[in-house]
Amino acid sequence: MTTTECRLREQMARLCRSLFERRFSVGSAGNVSVRLPDGMLMTPTNARLGEVDPHAIAKIGLDGQHIYGGRPTKEVVLHRAYYETRPEAGAIVHLHSTWATALSCMEETDPEDCIPAITPYVVMRVGTVKMVPYVRPGDPAMGDRIRALKGRHAAVLLANHGPVVSGTDLHSAVNAAEELEETAKLLVALRGVPTRMLSPEKVVELKSTFGTI
Ligand code: ZN
Repeated sequence: MTTTECRLREQMARLCRSLFERRFSVGSAGNVSVRLPDGMLMTPTNARLGEVDPHAIAKIGLDGQHIYGGRPTKEVVLHRAYYETRPEAGAIVHLHSTWATALSCMEETDPEDCIPAITPYVVMRVGTVKMVPYVRPGDPAMGDRIRALKGRHAAVLLANHGPVVSGTDLHSAVNAAEELEETAKLLVALRGVPTRMLSPEKVVELKSTFGTI
């Protein structure tokens, strides 16, 4: 195992624990992966993110074969499809965090723009967040749903399930996932309250400045 992979395993375990301790994940919900030159690292199946052993993190090869560590999460299909279609993604955080998941269930959420721009941060970090139609967790059809996005979205909401957020590296994916969750909370809190949105021009300015879509 290379020193870089060793360091990434430690970093994954530390950031997963941090997410868990702050209740972005409960029980064994959620999974995190990091891209490697020869595959990816992924949290093991049924793992509590608060208790991930760095050596139990699964290593999966480019063709999907298991190389080292525990068995990967059953949502491995989702992560592989994301990396395949989005070359700039270096890490992916998938959570069942409460407020983003609430938005993924609400009839009024716009499937083309799940997180309307009330503050700049989600726009800056991930751009427009699209809804992916529901399939059961672990269904191979999830891969097709993600490929259909053609890598255009850094983050999506899986309908009636939860958010998937990518970043160029693990820290940026975790930061963006936290930002998305907090913005989702604001959106639910502001339901029914007349709200001053960022104008379309300001959203375009943010996207062009920060290189998001
Ligand atoms: Zn899930």
